[in-house]
Amino acid sequence: MITSTTGPQPADFADVRATNLAVVLRFVREHAPCSRADIAASTGLNKATVSSLVADLIDRRLVRETGLTENRVGRPATMLVLDGSPYAAIGVEINVDTVSAVAVDLAGERLLTWRRSFSAGDSVNQGVAAVGAVVRRVVGRMAKEERQVLGLAVAVPGLVDVQGTVRIAPGLGWRDADLGGDLAKALRDPGFPIQVDNDANLAALAEQRFGAHAGASDLVYLTGELGVGAGVILDGRLRKGGRGFSGEIGHVQLDPEGPRCHCGRRGCLEAMAGIAAVLRRDLSPAETQVEIEEVVRLARAGDAGTLATLDSVGRHLGQGVSLLASLLNPEVVILGGYYVPLAPWLLPAVRDELAGRVIAEEAGGCQVVASTLGHDAAALGGAARVLDSVDSGRLPGGLSRIP
Ligand SMILES: [Zn+2]
Repeated sequence: MITSTTGPQPADFADVRATNLAVVLRFVREHAPCSRADIAASTGLNKATVSSLVADLIDRRLVRETGLTENRVGRPATMLVLDGSPYAAIGVEINVDTVSAVAVDLAGERLLTWRRSFSAGDSVNQGVAAVGAVVRRVVGRMAKEERQVLGLAVAVPGLVDVQGTVRIAPGLGWRDADLGGDLAKALRDPGFPIQVDNDANLAALAEQRFGAHAGASDLVYLTGELGVGAGVILDGRLRKGGRGFSGEIGHVQLDPEGPRCHCGRRGCLEAMAGIAAVLRRDLSPAETQVEIEEVVRLARAGDAGTLATLDSVGRHLGQGVSLLASLLNPEVVILGGYYVPLAPWLLPAVRDELAGRVIAEEAGGCQVVASTLGHDAAALGGAARVLDSVDSGRLPGGLSRIP
């Protein structure tokens, strides 16, 4: 993106080249296998420039030649694909009872998925030690596979400011924690960047890159864990707001007389349409999993009370989704977490509310669907965030060709 707010900038050759390398890398990601001529034709870069850029990307082992050739009229062309076998991107999600870790290669192929138990209520120091131990193991495994770690992004259920400081994570009992800085110390400055973000934000990035609606430029992800939060992608980019605190739809009040919310207020969306509203009480995550399975069983069996509860929760959820649809006009709102197994019973009520509450015809084209990424969405989104950094020009290795 070109910004004009700061006036003319001196042309910086290294910047231009880094930008062009990213353009070519993204093209190969989207169109592989493709030829150098395809890249030149589609990007508007001349063929000599493309050849030089591709040579650089091959040096960095980001792109490789397949040996496959394309049999069009004229000279056959060597085809290019993403390499990435020397690299890994790591995403971690901290939840109230588990730490999940996911590693993917440059092409987004899953390399590993690990989960270990974790106790909410541990101090930040204990939390950092637990997460650090998981990350060290993942990094060790990647080193064994001779992969360089491109970066780590950690998802936290709470407010994370734009600097990456965890301002408040109620489920974890954390406040004002410099998680990224503490993790870097625990990992003894591991030589890769560490980012920290809100779980809904990273899950939205996972959906944008890996989900059933990948590539959607206007998408909202709603977490259905013990809390309800929204990750918002508009015009193709994650939107976090001025301080990074957008998406707290879980604490929008639907009913001043409603049930007490975790935040101390009454009638928040989270209290009326969160998982506790389905189960009618707060349970530990392990108990929640078992209870949700029981709710699904009862709903399948046609239990009237269960169906009425799910309809009511779906209607309140539909009110929240209507707010999102009216404000943001997303193409799709994706329900994650525990909403996924309950979706067959929630979605009809959500869609009904949506149709009745949004002024735009057909709710502005907003679809509501269940996530296909499961409970690993936020961890996977951490890995997606790292790949986003590479795609936007923070390339690893092979710097010798840049003057
Ligand atoms: Zn609340």
